Amino acid sequence: MCAVQGLLACLCACLLCCWPQDVQSADAAIILDPGHSKTQYGTMSCSGGQEYAYNNALVEAIGHVFQEKQIRFRTTRGPEQEMDLRERTRGTQGQRLFVSIHHDSAQEIYITYPKGFPCSDHAAGYAIFVSQKNPYYEESLRFARLFGANLRAWGLRPSRHHAEKIPGEHRQALDAELGIYRFDDLVVLKSAQCPAILFEAAVIINPKDDALARSEPYKVIIALSLRNAVQRFAKAGRLRP
Ligand SMILES: [Zn+2]
Repeated sequence: MCAVQGLLACLCACLLCCWPQDVQSADAAIILDPGHSKTQYGTMSCSGGQEYAYNNALVEAIGHVFQEKQIRFRTTRGPEQEMDLRERTRGTQGQRLFVSIHHDSAQEIYITYPKGFPCSDHAAGYAIFVSQKNPYYEESLRFARLFGANLRAWGLRPSRHHAEKIPGEHRQALDAELGIYRFDDLVVLKSAQCPAILFEAAVIINPKDDALARSEPYKVIIALSLRNAVQRFAKAGRLRP
């Protein structure tokens, strides 16, 4: 446990407060997509934060953890850059992996606004989406399984709420244990011309998940899980060396 805490403390200290521009590569095999933008900020958290800022912070952490192993990547947008959905997947042809980073909410029926911000303890945990309309669906699912298995190994739990049989949800669970769901019409997934997943890191309208999502160790665990999955995907011949 001490070794794990030491590793996390070291990695947290290494997470600089800057966008990882310096480690981006034009011929990157992996594309990290911080979901939403400043004007289209996504969901609001129970503490009043905007989703796009959570997405930025997590991509930043992933970038620094990738850099340690010289994993080439680029981001779809800069931290304050506006970008529509189609633009995000431009240039994905010939790339090896597209990972869209998000933070989750729940259906309106479960939400209250105690301090003016949306709050609910109905759902908690992460979720991974893949689309059967992506031309590399099988590869996408293969990568999702590797990533999910790494998250589970760190003790993270998937949210079940996307499988609920209610309007707005009712997603097919492709692997409930690993938190993988099918969502065919997510624009970035179906328009990416390479294997693609969309990751919801935590349900930020849930106060406990919101606190987790803001913590550095949580971001580092996700970054390490993603890095390990990428390395195993590469080892299996799914990524260019
Ligand atoms: Zn989102």
